[in-house]
Amino acid sequence: MTHEKATYLLDLSVGELEDLVQELGQKSFRARQIWRWLYVHLAGQFEDMTNLSVALRQKLAQHARCSALQALQEEVSADGQTRKVLLGLADGERIETVLMLYDERATVCVSTQVGCAIGCPFCATGQGGFRRDLSTGEIVEQVLYFARWLRDHGPAGLDRVGNVVFMGMGEPLANYEATWKAIETMHDPQGLNLGARRFTVSTAGLVPGILRLAEEDLPVNLAISLHAATDELRDQLVPVNRRYPLEELLRAVRAYLARTNRRVTFEYALIAGINTAITEAHRLADRLRGLLCHVNLIPLNPVPDSRWQPPPDHVVREWQLFLQRAHIPVSVRLERGTEIAAACGQLRGHSKAPKGKQSD
Ligand code: SF4
Repeated sequence: MTHEKATYLLDLSVGELEDLVQELGQKSFRARQIWRWLYVHLAGQFEDMTNLSVALRQKLAQHARCSALQALQEEVSADGQTRKVLLGLADGERIETVLMLYDERATVCVSTQVGCAIGCPFCATGQGGFRRDLSTGEIVEQVLYFARWLRDHGPAGLDRVGNVVFMGMGEPLANYEATWKAIETMHDPQGLNLGARRFTVSTAGLVPGILRLAEEDLPVNLAISLHAATDELRDQLVPVNRRYPLEELLRAVRAYLARTNRRVTFEYALIAGINTAITEAHRLADRLRGLLCHVNLIPLNPVPDSRWQPPPDHVVREWQLFLQRAHIPVSVRLERGTEIAAACGQLRGHSKAPKGKQSD
């Protein structure tokens, strides 16, 4: 039987897992066996780990657990290409994870916090406030959830996770240690074996985190949620801009580029009547000219009954054309699964809170 204080194996590095098996009186090579069960065979329970003795499996079950997340609700878009799951955590909190199927890859969008402290006014998660950071294991298990689904039900050629984007609930760089350890765990060639370039960390613009990321050995991708090209507007849309205004943010991006030479993506959510005037596109181009970057225009995924809505299609096209002519690499990303409440934080907002917890 597991208990509340049981060690959550997905929180551990290989070295920490070795320490644990030694504490349980076992040889350290058992750690690699367990690691393979977790990340190659995607085992969710000790009974499945059949090359471990029954005695060891029982001992592990007394001291540890390999799962802490429970699927509470799953929604699938009409075309079947987007699946969103509401996952319950051991303490009753809830997070969301999304799987997006593309022609050649399956992308998992993970949460890194319960709620978010950044407080962007157009975001359902931001409106719910911050509850707590996720642990490494709670981040990794979101990916394992959909890795299992892809193995068992994935369409032909899409039987494993291709990319992991840190764009769900929360600000990954505000939970840096757990996020980075999760990346290292999922990168391990003797485990899930996801290459560094398959990870994209998305930030609202936490400068110290960007500078720290630039020093890491694994060359993961960086995306920055910009959404505005002046401090006046960005202070409102992404309130952390008051702490790290645009000049400082772009200075950090230049330092990141100088150190890594890896193209940075700027996300720009197009919000009707707020940041879509073509003069804003001019300002954006002026800010980004000469940077090794790419702009992702994202017509906002509307939150029901919200004053924040996407602009008409012709506005999106106008922006795209303008940036192309200004020689800023640009693409338009359509939000997936509007009908399944895919905007960040919406499913959590819709669902009933577990007993003893207050509803959002
Ligand atoms: S958009 Fe991202 S950074 Fe802003 S409140 Fe929502 S989760 Fe946080």
